[in-house]
Amino acid sequence: MAIQTPKGTRDILPNEIHKWNYVEKEFAIICKRFGYQEIRIPVFEYTELFQRGVGDDTDIVQKEMYTFNDKGGRSITLRPEGTAGVVRSYIQNGMSSLPQPVKLFYQITAYRYEQVQQGRYREFHQFGAELLGAQDAAADVEIISILALFFEKIGVKNLILNLNSIGCPECRKAYNELLKEYLSDKISDMCDTCKTRYDRNPMRILDCKVDSCRAHLINAPALLDHICDDCRAHFEQVTHKLETIGIPYNIDRNIVRGLDYYTKTVFEFVSENIGTKGTVCGGGRYDGLVEEIGGQPTPGVGFALGVERLLLEMESQGIEFPEADAPDIYIGAIGERAGQVAEKLTWQLRSKNIYCIKDIMGRSVKAQMKYADKLNVRYTLILGDNEIDSNKARLKDMKTGETKDISLDTLIDRLVKNKA
Ligand code: ATP
Ligand code: MG
Repeated sequence: MAIQTPKGTRDILPNEIHKWNYVEKEFAIICKRFGYQEIRIPVFEYTELFQRGVGDDTDIVQKEMYTFNDKGGRSITLRPEGTAGVVRSYIQNGMSSLPQPVKLFYQITAYRYEQVQQGRYREFHQFGAELLGAQDAAADVEIISILALFFEKIGVKNLILNLNSIGCPECRKAYNELLKEYLSDKISDMCDTCKTRYDRNPMRILDCKVDSCRAHLINAPALLDHICDDCRAHFEQVTHKLETIGIPYNIDRNIVRGLDYYTKTVFEFVSENIGTKGTVCGGGRYDGLVEEIGGQPTPGVGFALGVERLLLEMESQGIEFPEADAPDIYIGAIGERAGQVAEKLTWQLRSKNIYCIKDIMGRSVKAQMKYADKLNVRYTLILGDNEIDSNKARLKDMKTGETKDISLDTLIDRLVKNKA
């Protein structure tokens, strides 16, 4: 049997690549408008980065990572997300001595060993942005407004911004005790992962996906109701600033996010269209992460957006993508002399940035025209001995069917002008 892609991976084929190119380009434009610069990080990192960065007790680290020993016996992991790598790079490359804040964006593939379904793959794509060095609520709002503007620009409507605060390590300490107390008579009924988390990292229990565990959590105290004054003031500034700009939000006390590094603001943009996998993107503040990975204490805030889910959402909203470019002209040729002229002409046209296709199969004129039609070309031009001798050929506009005899010398200028 022919070899297939591994489960959870897929090819992005030429007939859909224009959609990807479109959102990639628009995302980069928006990020740059906010002053973010692109960063590219490795596909794999030392496993320890994610254990420390994402958190030992998270689902990602415990269940979803592609981890292996390389031939030198080092433990390597395919990145399950981008933030840890970006923050590692910030530290490793001394970006803390650049003018702060440092603003970075990325477009990456990410790898998680997950149950494959619509909107959930083992290799997937994320767009992300990270803002390092800024503590103020204005930074959180800037990060959220990149997304709001991006969605507006590409025409995605009705995504709901869910917002929460999960406080700082200080308020969390007290909250963890409260949560443990609440769970003390329930934990024996819960899954093994919850049981270990009960002692190691109680808040992680809120992220459990097992239905019977979730049932026990319905009346659990909400962290938002127990955050300290500082965290509360920060959260109020975030909501106030969102109101000032006019970005609607909804407070959702249940968001905890699946990564341990978050502090204070956490948020998600969710869709009602794409079902249970409706979280198009998620993000938040991570004031402890830089220090956790070995840098100086540095505040940070960012997001990651799932591109597959974004495209699903766009399709379900019936958003039209700009069509892929079609060739400007097809140059057909009959006979060897004409073939040589076509060769040169095509070269000249391409060097003037004209999208030009010529026959390279030695087909009959009829077959060449059939092919040109399939390519959806704008103009065709057929060269034979007569055309070469008279230096004139018939240019056919494939949209209108109109034909015009033109001098071969003027063809290039004409097409260049046409395109301008
Ligand atoms: P979920 O709750 O759906 O598992 P998550 O909280 O694990 O999402 P994040 O780590 O916040 O997701 O990643 C940011 C975004 O990346 C998600 O909102 C989602 O759009 C996308 N994403 C996450 N995991 C996958 C996956 N396996 N396949 C496709 N997209 C994904
Ligand atoms: Mg997940």
